[in-house]
Amino acid sequence: MERKRLEDYAEDIYTCNRTRCGFCREQCPVYHVKVYETYSCRGKMLVGRGLIEKTLSPFEEMAQILDHCLLCGLCQARCALHNLDIITSMRREMVRRGFSTPVHRENVQRILTEGHLLDIRTAPKRQGQIPLYVGCVYRSKPRELATALSVLERLDIHPLIGDETCCGYIVDATGFDKEFEEVQEQLKNTYQQFEAPEILTLCPTCTITLREKYGLPVKHAIVAVAEQLHKKQGIVKSLGFRATYHDPCHLGRMLGVFAEPREILRHLGIQLVEMENNRYFSTCCGGGGGVNAVDPELSLEIAKNRVRDAIRVDVEIITTVCPTCEPTLLRAAGRLAGELGTFVDVQSLWDLLDKALQ
Ligand code: SF4
Ligand code: SF4
Repeated sequence: MERKRLEDYAEDIYTCNRTRCGFCREQCPVYHVKVYETYSCRGKMLVGRGLIEKTLSPFEEMAQILDHCLLCGLCQARCALHNLDIITSMRREMVRRGFSTPVHRENVQRILTEGHLLDIRTAPKRQGQIPLYVGCVYRSKPRELATALSVLERLDIHPLIGDETCCGYIVDATGFDKEFEEVQEQLKNTYQQFEAPEILTLCPTCTITLREKYGLPVKHAIVAVAEQLHKKQGIVKSLGFRATYHDPCHLGRMLGVFAEPREILRHLGIQLVEMENNRYFSTCCGGGGGVNAVDPELSLEIAKNRVRDAIRVDVEIITTVCPTCEPTLLRAAGRLAGELGTFVDVQSLWDLLDKALQ
């Protein structure tokens, strides 16, 4: 299918160039660290105009700057334009014109040849009643996957797991248009559940990709957990500590799943304290959009800023429900502990459920 090209967004880009309101810049996690206009969405819109009008020719550093975007969508939440589509179309333009970051090329090649982004350490086929798409990250984390499956089973949700290949989010997000079509074909040929009425997922990024790029009827498993806990009142013990919840960008801002994780925390007897940036305006953990692959130091600084949000509200634990956010924030919490002498633990909501259901 022919995708929109950068010039198709000319009207949006010119609107931004004329307005230059800068609302997108206020909370952009990348801009906050880099403090350089081109890293903000407003700055990228100027680059877009230069590319459309051919007053700018692509060059290596331009491609690198475009790769320094988390695709977190916070700019789009504060703007009336198609910001994410524009940024990804600029990335596609760069790849088409021969500029791409080697680490992204390697990852794309790996997905095309092996079917997965990461080292697969568990291939958990199992019979069950409702299909579950596991995703590359959980397939590389046997303990975390076993915990989530155990929680689901204890709540009478019986997942069926079969063969699958990568959903291809990172291929699409980094601008490899043609390759993404091949990855889509690969998944369609491997995955047997394209006709299923509902498919559970564990990773927010897989969830949005399967929904938007494949049209599949997906539901993040944590939503199913909230529904079961609502029906089965009183089956969890109270954990009783103060925690804050970090909304993963794809699950929260993009899929609208805000209430269910918070309901679960209430069931677990956790005193939920909100960070300043929460729900629709939550800030990214630093792990999105392929930034971690091209600039791990930037990713870490962004994650540290998110952990600082939690430190400011004085909680013992940050919990979240994304296999990328959790390790990204935990690494930052460890670094900050060394710098500030204050440690906030980061725990998956699956781990909290596992403790409370025993
Ligand atoms: S991208 Fe949107 S919010 Fe940012 S300067 Fe342009 S019009 Fe304003
Ligand atoms: S998507 Fe996120 S990181 Fe990228 S420009 Fe917008 S706010 Fe900044």
